[in-house]
Amino acid sequence: MFDITQRDIKYLVGVGPTRADILSRDLNIKTFHDLLYYFPYKYIDRSKLYSICELNGEMAYVQFKGEIISVETIGEGRNRRLVAHVSDHTGIVDLVWFQGIKYVQKSLKPHTLYLIFGKPSVFGGRINVSHPDLSTMDSLSLSDLGLQAYYNTSEKMKRSGLNSAMISKLVQNLFDQLKEPLAETLPEHILAKYKLAPLMESLRMIHFPKNNEEIRRAQYRLKFEELFYIQLNIIRYASDRQRRSRGFVFSKVGEMFNSFYNHCLPFPLTGAQKRVIKEIRGDMGSGRQMNRLLQGDVGSGKTLVALMTSLLAVDNGYQACIMAPTEILAEQHSHTIREQLSDLPVRLELLTGSVKGKKREEILNGVQTGEVKILVGTHAVLEDTVLFKNLGFVVIDEQHRFGVAQRARLWNKNVIPPHVLVMTATPIPRTLAMTLYGDLDVSVIDELPPGRKPVQTLHMFDNRRKSLYDGMRQQIGLGRQVYVVYPLIKENEKLDLLDLEKGFEQIQAQFPEFRVCMVHGKMKPAEKDLEMKRFLAGESNIMVATTVIEVGVNVPNASVMIIQNAERFGLSQLHQLRGRVGRGADQSYCILVTGNKLSEITKKRIQIMTETNDGFEIAEADLKLRGPGDLEGTQQSGLAFDLHIANIVKDSQLLEYVRNIAHQIVEEDTESNHPENAILWQQLAKMRKDQINWSEIS
Ligand code: ADP
Ligand code: MG
Repeated sequence: MFDITQRDIKYLVGVGPTRADILSRDLNIKTFHDLLYYFPYKYIDRSKLYSICELNGEMAYVQFKGEIISVETIGEGRNRRLVAHVSDHTGIVDLVWFQGIKYVQKSLKPHTLYLIFGKPSVFGGRINVSHPDLSTMDSLSLSDLGLQAYYNTSEKMKRSGLNSAMISKLVQNLFDQLKEPLAETLPEHILAKYKLAPLMESLRMIHFPKNNEEIRRAQYRLKFEELFYIQLNIIRYASDRQRRSRGFVFSKVGEMFNSFYNHCLPFPLTGAQKRVIKEIRGDMGSGRQMNRLLQGDVGSGKTLVALMTSLLAVDNGYQACIMAPTEILAEQHSHTIREQLSDLPVRLELLTGSVKGKKREEILNGVQTGEVKILVGTHAVLEDTVLFKNLGFVVIDEQHRFGVAQRARLWNKNVIPPHVLVMTATPIPRTLAMTLYGDLDVSVIDELPPGRKPVQTLHMFDNRRKSLYDGMRQQIGLGRQVYVVYPLIKENEKLDLLDLEKGFEQIQAQFPEFRVCMVHGKMKPAEKDLEMKRFLAGESNIMVATTVIEVGVNVPNASVMIIQNAERFGLSQLHQLRGRVGRGADQSYCILVTGNKLSEITKKRIQIMTETNDGFEIAEADLKLRGPGDLEGTQQSGLAFDLHIANIVKDSQLLEYVRNIAHQIVEEDTESNHPENAILWQQLAKMRKDQINWSEIS
């Protein structure tokens, strides 16, 4: 059967090849279907008319009538603008154009009554509306005055006439071109039971609502459907697959694990560490492949869990691989683990990009023969030249730094996939975890090792540098060490490096009695390493650095973290950085230094940071402030679908609601063969055809 919604958008009346290109490139609209599901982001009530005397600069988009009294061009060069003075006998307002001046000037008719629509602002003490929508009163039809849908468009699109109004027109054309209604995508019994509007009606209402009630009904149905299918997909297939997929059986707890536990363990395990190790052991012995996410706040002791569970693999005759996102971190892992293993006969090697030549060959060889039991490394372990004899267990540390594709490569190193443990200090909020991973197993270390004092976080404006320096001097006097971190954002790398160097010099000048070192991503690995090692050994007192130290670095004697330009960091990054201190028994401090002018969102971030140390709370807040698409890690962690209308944060209640419904359906219709659900399984099959199953590689 031919499905008209799959037709190329260029065949829609009013589109054609040029516009089709733009629609495809800028909005990813390629078919009739895509356009139908390109929903307005807001609606404006055009039924209300204001008088000019009512306008003020605080208003959103408004509509008013007025007659053009006079038109003039003002200013030169880039400041040149066209100004039309408009009156409605209650006041005067200026309409302003900066672009298309000639064209607009020609089209404006003085002494004519216009309906004007735009956003008022105040400029030079007068009310202005720049680039308003104008229509003469006689060209208006009644329908223009109802609720008007607004669609997001790019600047480029506006320039080629594809503005919001044009999109609306195209959607209208599409409805006109549809000879028959689209097939319903939800079964009758679900529509009835949950009181959902039918599909066709919902699509009409979302684009051309007659009133607010229609918008609400349409949004509810469409969000319900979107979230419902995501959940149904996860519940129906992902859990089936997990139950079936074969994995290595690590049946015994052997000599290495026991010797380590009895002789090498540097401190008693926390209750949470014990519980998590038990959970992992359970998975490893179950005969199905483990796919587990380990969430634990910074400093909660995940590395030890990685090591001990790696020993379980070794005890059962398999190799383990521990992957870290940066060289520094991989080196640090290999260093601590080697130290903790002390005399145990377990060969451990470190493989990073800077291991070269003979040493590299030696390691690769050992990995292939199986003599290397634990391989610690960066993404260098993913290269094709790295061949394991029998890789049984993979730990991925600080998962958000790894792309999904990289993880898939690791997966492919075996016929039977190794058990996978993904460790992250960026806790994924519950709502998001549910959506992303469905029934993926999650372990949580919710307890810090004993004796840690929570880090005290303070906010300081950068004009109070003197008291900052005093505090630093006092802490260093007590024998502690201090980090000073500067942002490094890619677009502006050069400037940032200057900032960093300037900061370094300032601090050197300020503290001639102390040793100050500097670390940044542009340094040669060997140099960087040297500085890190000196800091770790306590040979330098202050480390000035970029975010290269963000992840995982462990210097227990460092007790002060100063974050310069804190306004330029995201919440989870700030939290990660703060996690670098508070690792010893001393009271630690995190100082967020900012300029005086702060945006609302920055103020909020700083407030959250000073109020809580709880990574989950912070992640939840981060999600709310930034939206799920921006949450660090989620772009890479396999969010395999685009949400057209639902919002994971705002609609989290609905998400849980539909999740229960999906569960119920899967439980009742175990074989997916109930005729009343036929539509569900067809839709699911369609969805899955163009989707990679990310749950297999997380
Ligand atoms: P993260 O979870 O952030 O990776 P680490 O594994 O780096 O945390 O551990 C942070 C610090 O806590 C390290 O110095 C580690 O040696 C120490 N540590 C880990 N487990 C315990 C424990 N059970 N008791 C005391 N200290 C611990
Ligand atoms: Mg760590």
